[in-house]
Amino acid sequence: MLQSFLSLRAQARSCTSLSRSHLRSLSSSAHLKMRVVPVPVRSDNYAYLLIDENTNKAAVVDPFDVSKVKAAAVKEGVELISLLTTHHHQDHSGGNNYLAKAYPTATIYGGSHKSPAVTDIVKDGDAFTVGNDIKVKCMATPCHTQDSICYYVEDATRNQRGVFTGDTLFVAGCGRFFEGTAEEMHKALSYLGTLPDDTTTYVGHEYTKGNLAFGAHVEPENPGFEPLKKLVENNEITAGKSTIADEKKWNVFMRLDSPEIQKAVGKTDIIQVMDELRNQKNNYRG
Ligand SMILES: [Zn+2]
Repeated sequence: MLQSFLSLRAQARSCTSLSRSHLRSLSSSAHLKMRVVPVPVRSDNYAYLLIDENTNKAAVVDPFDVSKVKAAAVKEGVELISLLTTHHHQDHSGGNNYLAKAYPTATIYGGSHKSPAVTDIVKDGDAFTVGNDIKVKCMATPCHTQDSICYYVEDATRNQRGVFTGDTLFVAGCGRFFEGTAEEMHKALSYLGTLPDDTTTYVGHEYTKGNLAFGAHVEPENPGFEPLKKLVENNEITAGKSTIADEKKWNVFMRLDSPEIQKAVGKTDIIQVMDELRNQKNNYRG
């Protein structure tokens, strides 16, 4: 007994004596994969690094604060090769010019030239890759802005998938209809709803707490809010912690046929339900 305890201790000591970089190379060679790192910027925005661990190449989504993004890229030891812009609003595309200067060879994608420094305009269905294994598919979701693009990313070799939704979809919410209609938002969210259930959502802002309060206000009997409450209580950053399947359970803007929601807004026509739900959210003060 004592013998085995001593030998365990010896093993533990030899483990800790392994260099950190050696451990890192061991762990990364065992789990090479697509990896997404949220980078909080401004007051409540998210930029993201989308990393192909196989090649250590990365794309950045909506950088805004380039010094923070650069620091994150250095920390992760990755080379930034491209930028994905979700829409032209300043708090998302405002870092594009700075990033273009810092990384002059980076390809800069976006839905329109309203976003600065865009080199490649993308439209619905366009596809490209990041590194070796990450396939990116562009999904046009006009409404919040007409140039809103969601980027569906997939590492098929490792069965991982996610979607960067900008200000179209939030955890348990959606963006305001600044340049579009309720019909367009319904179409956009339904389109995102066609993605596989296990697609992770990477949203544009940390609005989850407020969205939970509003959701529970209009659909109080929905059991889907229990796990969302836990998510909010246990995580300051909820980005990357929900899936499309979760959103269908707790996002009232994806649940327009719920009788409880229809009663709360006093409408049954799906588009009118969306319109009135957004009006109520705009005026909701918790
Ligand atoms: Zn916006």
